[in-house]
Amino acid sequence: MNTNTQTEQQIIREETRIDKIIKKRKKKMRAQVLLCPTITAYGRLYCAPRRLHRYNSSSSSSQFLNLNLSRFSGALFFHMEVCSLARNLCFSLFSTHKQFQSGTGSSGKRGMVENLKRYGVISSKRVAQVMEALDRGLFVPVGSSAYVDTPVPIGYNATISAPHMHATCLQLLEDKLHPGMRALDVGSGTGYLTGCFALMVGAEGRVVGVDHIPELVDMSIKNIEKSVAASFLKKGSLSLHVGDGRKGWQEFAPYDAIHVGAAASEIPQPLLDQLKPGGRMVIPLGTYFQELKVIDKNEDGSIKVHTETSVRYVPLTSRVEQLGGF
Ligand code: SAH
Repeated sequence: MNTNTQTEQQIIREETRIDKIIKKRKKKMRAQVLLCPTITAYGRLYCAPRRLHRYNSSSSSSQFLNLNLSRFSGALFFHMEVCSLARNLCFSLFSTHKQFQSGTGSSGKRGMVENLKRYGVISSKRVAQVMEALDRGLFVPVGSSAYVDTPVPIGYNATISAPHMHATCLQLLEDKLHPGMRALDVGSGTGYLTGCFALMVGAEGRVVGVDHIPELVDMSIKNIEKSVAASFLKKGSLSLHVGDGRKGWQEFAPYDAIHVGAAASEIPQPLLDQLKPGGRMVIPLGTYFQELKVIDKNEDGSIKVHTETSVRYVPLTSRVEQLGGF
C-alpha cells in the first residue's frame, strides 16, 4: 500500500469518526429539547416543550387542520405530540410527583407563591398578590395540605385544582381581570378561583361562579365568607349559583374572562356566545388526554384558539353523571 492510499484511508477513518461524534451530539441536543420542562396538573413536572403545542385556529373543530407549524417541521411536531402523550400516560400511571411546596399557615402560603414564582408559573405581581391574599387554607377540607401543589378531593367526585393550575389560569386571564371587568367561573367548586377573580376586578367589577352541585355552592359561599373576598359577596359584586355551567350565566353576560374548571369534550356554544368581543376564555378540552385551550374572541366576533399545556381535570358533565357511583 503506497503512502497516498494510506493517507486516504486515514482521512476516511477520521471522517467516519467525526460523523459519529456529530450524530451523537445531535441525538443529545434532541434529547435536551424533549426534556425542556413545562408544568402540568397534579404538581408534576411535565417535560414537554410548551411552544410546540401552540397553534391558531378559527374554529375548534378544525384545530388540527390549522396547525400553525411555520417554525417547526410537521415530523418533529408529530414526534413531540406522541412523546407528550406517552409521557402523560406514564405520569398518570406511575404518579411521579414533584411538588413545589408543603407547609402550613402564612409561611406555607407565602412559600407556595414564592415557589410558583421561582418555577415561572407566576410572573405577575397582581397574581402573586391575590394568591397570597386569599388563603387557600380556608378552601380545602380540614386536615388536607393546603399549600402542597396538588389537587385535593372536595367530595362529590370533584377536586380543588392544584395551586399551579389556579396560578396558570390567573396568569392567562390577568389582562381580562382589571378593575371593573366581568368574569365567569364555570365549575366554581370551592370558590377559590372565583374569590381571586373578585379581588382582581374589585367592587366595580362583576364575578359569577356556577357549579351544578348545590352542596359545593353552599360550601364555596361559606369559604368566601371567611376570606378577604367576603365584602364582595356581601356587596353583591360576587355571586355563586347552582346551575349547569355549560349554559353559562346569561344574567351578567357578556364576560371579559371566562374560566372553565372542568374538562369539556367540546367548547359549549353558550359560553362562546357569552364571551365579550376582546374577551378570553380558558377551558380544558378532552377526555383522557386533555389540553388547556385559550380562546380569544376578536372584536369582529371571530375566535382564535391556542393550546397552553396538557392538563388533567374532572369532566364538565351532568350532575347525574358526576355523582354516578358516589
Ligand atoms: N375550580 C374549582 C373546582 C374544580 S373541580 C376549584 O378549584 O375549587 C370541577 C368542578 O366543576 C366541580 O366542582 C364540579 O361539580 C363542576 N362541574 C362539572 N360539571 C359541571 C357543569 N356541567 N356545570 C357546573 N359545574 C360543573
